[in-house]
Amino acid sequence: MLTDHLPRVSLAFLPTPLEEMPRLRAALGAACPRLLIKRDDQTGLATGGNKTRKLEFAIADALQQGADTVITAGAAQSNHCRQTAAACAKMGLRCVLVLSGVARLRAEYTGNLLLDDLFGAEIVWTGVESGKTPTAGDLRVQVMAETAGRLRTEGHHPYVIPVGASNAVGAMGYVAAVEELHQQLQERGEQVDRIVFVSGSGGTHAGILVGARALGMPVQVEGMMNDASPGFAERIRDIAYQTVLKLGVNLEISAPDVVLHPACGTHGYGVITDAEREAVRLIARTEGIVTDPVYTGRGLGGLVERVRAGIYRPDETVLFWHTGGVTGLFPRAADVMEGA
Ligand SMILES: *Cc1c(COP(=O)(O)O)cnc(C)c1O
Repeated sequence: MLTDHLPRVSLAFLPTPLEEMPRLRAALGAACPRLLIKRDDQTGLATGGNKTRKLEFAIADALQQGADTVITAGAAQSNHCRQTAAACAKMGLRCVLVLSGVARLRAEYTGNLLLDDLFGAEIVWTGVESGKTPTAGDLRVQVMAETAGRLRTEGHHPYVIPVGASNAVGAMGYVAAVEELHQQLQERGEQVDRIVFVSGSGGTHAGILVGARALGMPVQVEGMMNDASPGFAERIRDIAYQTVLKLGVNLEISAPDVVLHPACGTHGYGVITDAEREAVRLIARTEGIVTDPVYTGRGLGGLVERVRAGIYRPDETVLFWHTGGVTGLFPRAADVMEGA
């Protein structure tokens, strides 16, 4: 394996299933390519998701550095924070989550917040709602650094995982994931032409891209934009560059390798439109698969848009990488079912 030289703990149920989606394909009409789905909503830890794969490397790195506490950050309904809280509980580490927003009452905790609390994570609120200020991201980084400093003076050994675990350490989870997919495809004597997924903080994208290139897979790696933040492609390329260095492979990732598409109009983070609603309902009713409106519903909505626009040919095989987020559905029930 490409990542064998790196420390890793076991947190996920692997390999995740690779399935075909014939009924979704039929629902999208004759021009729809063959559709496969990689079920990383089934990674197992705390209802699953893509962060579990990243955390296998991030938590191992924390343990190797002698950490007793993990600090990370995200939005109030962060899937990454929920999986980190569960991973810390499992590994016996203290967990501090820096969440964007104003402190809420415990009785109002829903979805991932309820699970963070259940797993025993300590929550530090930044006091600034996510998305409402351009400095919210920086504020989280600042609060994480302050929290780490405070813990150090108290004699603890904190380890900071960046938002989404999107650095070279976390991206290794997706280098290994592509290797897993590669093996599944080989066993079945199959190939995919495109790998499509929703890109949020960029680590999944960087890992899939580096993994696919390192294995020489002739596949187009396409991220659907979860948000329209400027400089995002450069950020992915930077993580990919760091990942290549850490892997120790001889590989160059150039700017055109980072393919990002707008999806569902790419309104802001967490904004739900008819496109996300339709995608979430369509895959549920044709395949019995749960997606969420913030991430995977938007990614799938982007795929649906591209099928309808005739961009994907019917003789191609397109793999949608399900990245989880199922718990994000419940706090948005009214939004998702609006007009149904
Ligand atoms: C975090 C997340 C993503 C995006 O992954 P990144 O590595 O941050 O780009 C996609 N889907 C779900 C459900 C997520 O929680």
